[in-house]
Amino acid sequence: MQTRITPFAAIAAFALAAGTAAAGPDRIAIGAIEDPNFEYVHGCWEGPDGNLTGVRVLMPIEPAILERQSRPQRRGVADNRVDFVFVGDGYTAAEESAFDSHVAFASSQLFLYEPFKAYENYFRVHAIFVESNESGVDNDPSPGIDRDTALDMQYWCGGTERLLCVNVSKAYAHANLAPDVDQVVALANSSKYGGAGYPGSDLGTSAGGNGSAPQIAIHELGHSLGDLADEYTYGGPTTWSGGEPGTKNASIYPASQMAADERKWHEWLGFSDPRFDGTVGTYEGCNYSALGIYRPSNNSMMRNLNRKFNAPSAERLIAAFYLEVQPIDDHTPNGSPIDADATVSVTPMQPIGHDLDVSWDLDGSPVAGADGLTSLVPASFGITAGGTLTATVVDNTDMVRAANIRNNRMTQAVSWTVLPASCLADLTGDGNLNVDDIDAFVAAFLAGDLAVDFDASGSLNVDDIDAFVAAFLTGC
Ligand SMILES: [Zn+2]
Repeated sequence: MQTRITPFAAIAAFALAAGTAAAGPDRIAIGAIEDPNFEYVHGCWEGPDGNLTGVRVLMPIEPAILERQSRPQRRGVADNRVDFVFVGDGYTAAEESAFDSHVAFASSQLFLYEPFKAYENYFRVHAIFVESNESGVDNDPSPGIDRDTALDMQYWCGGTERLLCVNVSKAYAHANLAPDVDQVVALANSSKYGGAGYPGSDLGTSAGGNGSAPQIAIHELGHSLGDLADEYTYGGPTTWSGGEPGTKNASIYPASQMAADERKWHEWLGFSDPRFDGTVGTYEGCNYSALGIYRPSNNSMMRNLNRKFNAPSAERLIAAFYLEVQPIDDHTPNGSPIDADATVSVTPMQPIGHDLDVSWDLDGSPVAGADGLTSLVPASFGITAGGTLTATVVDNTDMVRAANIRNNRMTQAVSWTVLPASCLADLTGDGNLNVDDIDAFVAAFLAGDLAVDFDASGSLNVDDIDAFVAAFLTGC
């Protein structure tokens, strides 16, 4: 689904400077970033041998983005979806249709790959047209070419030809016109191969007119959404000398030790499934080094284009989806106690190919016969004495094995306080059935009081007498 945001002309000048590289390409000190004010911007592209290659450039994270990322609650805000927002640079007013077709093309392959395929319903794709004064972006095709564009996109970023940078603050200023923003993709109006991933800013770039744009976009989302490492070996020291990386698809531990210590993707070792790339093991060479560090599969989307993700990377991406999406998409209100004969319901999120599991309990005890229901009337399940009714929804997909991910992000419960069922024959409301209730019924009946029209027929008749007597005799 694609939201049309109306054309947006010139924007106010922003005080923040364009994102400029703090240093040249970093091919030496590859390790954890100690300073949270910086991020490694990735650029990855196919080298002459067909394998991916690339660089990382250390850049400051812009203040507006740091403020955004520091907000305590991101999950479940606004629309309970992962919102991808495309913005474009170097598209003039006359090129709006080109932007539209570039967005359609760039997003055309995303949902072909697991785990995006199964979770397509969890996403919304928005396109926001941004008008530039000139067509094309800076340094295209060669350094020194300067164009007046809205987002200041440029090739040769940090001195690297295919590293395609953007002014992150300006990109967000436009992206924020979307109903919600979780990931921004900035497209350059160019056919020149290039892209970049900004993992700290949840932003990726791509050349809108390049044939590899859909694949680059997916690979960059692996970085920016899944915080995944590159699994190729070019660009760093031959032998990895750092410690265990923070990324989920790189490890210094070979399989035997990984299994013994229950580290990283130990739960996937030996796993093979056509939805994912390769048999999971520990394959030496990852994260820009050929030796001393391992990747989960021989090949994958994080090593080459036109590949599937491997299973550990897919698990990590699903964990990222569930940072923005809660398992329960909607439910009947629970802000005040409900009657036992009211209908309560939950609307779970709906992946493609499997349902989320729903279970119910009353004060901690399972409600018999209710598993799998998304809607029920408590009284119909014998819940007449009141209590706390809870629906628990969990995504038990086989694409996730880590218990902490499933328990912490993929499970959600909602509770209602259920009032005791009212007793039909206890007309005095004193909690007892006695002669006062009989007197009250007779008086109401003779007075034509429709409060004792128990069968809701609109008039008082023998059926109402029968209902009262039956309730009185059975204790309610
Ligand atoms: Zn990459």
